[in-house]
Amino acid sequence: MKCARGGIFSKGELQRFGNIELNPSAGVLNYGQGLFEGLKAYRKEDGNILLFRPEENALRMKIGAERMCMPSPTVEQFVEAVKATVLANKRWVPPPGKGSLYIRPLLIGTGAVLGVAPAPEYTFLIYVSPVGNYFKEGVAPINLIVEHELHRATPGGTGGVKTIGNYAAVLKAQSIAKAKGYSDVLYLDCVHKKYLEEVSSCNIFVVKDNVISTPAIKGTILPGITRKSVIDVARSQGFQVEERLVVVDELLDADEVFCTGTAVVVSPVGSITYKGKRVSYEEGGFGAVSQQLYTALTRLQMGLTEDKMNWTVGLN
Ligand code: PMP
Repeated sequence: MKCARGGIFSKGELQRFGNIELNPSAGVLNYGQGLFEGLKAYRKEDGNILLFRPEENALRMKIGAERMCMPSPTVEQFVEAVKATVLANKRWVPPPGKGSLYIRPLLIGTGAVLGVAPAPEYTFLIYVSPVGNYFKEGVAPINLIVEHELHRATPGGTGGVKTIGNYAAVLKAQSIAKAKGYSDVLYLDCVHKKYLEEVSSCNIFVVKDNVISTPAIKGTILPGITRKSVIDVARSQGFQVEERLVVVDELLDADEVFCTGTAVVVSPVGSITYKGKRVSYEEGGFGAVSQQLYTALTRLQMGLTEDKMNWTVGLN
């Protein structure tokens, strides 16, 4: 799907997966005008395919596009394009319990631009890939390290939208952490250097005495759709959930820590290394709270439980 700046996206078409041509002075290549989304399609026991809250991804892309001076497809165009792409790739949706089809919508400035300015043309495309678990640990606990020097977002910056540049900012810290054997990096705010932000590709939750806390959305962390869904599921199950400033020291006496994201779903954290000290949680697997939320969310996403929230969208 293509469009000129401020314009309306044309009706898209399906194409075989392959390279795309770009002008060397395309906005995305020179000034990082790019946004992406990530969502999943699950196959149910009866063969039908379910999407999870695709209109939330469409809305988040719309908000991000506004921040990045880009036009965006309408929510309807976005959802229809996702449906058409998944239907055309139906055979790649794994059987129930064997993974999912990851869907990657991408909005990029393809028009040529030399001085720093928004590009004159944009392309919206979607590609898909079957996936299993995000971390090599599967749903076993992951090990994080708190990063003290490198940050992924600054107040007033673009950390709150899903722009490609945010991921460039995490590559170095993540590579160093992985080389040392950690699963990923937990970032702190860059002003006080003491409040939790998020992990490279997921949000973070801390559980203490059955109260679930997660950093509030304030422009420097991504408003995760899984985060929002887990908060709603937890509240519907009677948990107290607080969205607030979470101080890094709270990790020291937390009962459980877990991450949420489309790719990671709900992943328990086994340990966090903070100022050279390793704090361990449920070594053997999920804590009781994260297990309960993982089960509730995945059963909903896979169509194994009644969808009272009306979050899933069937394709057949
Ligand atoms: N934070 C970051 C930086 C992410 O890349 C993601 C993945 N989109 C998330 C949080 C979780 O968001 P969601 O639950 O919408 O996948």
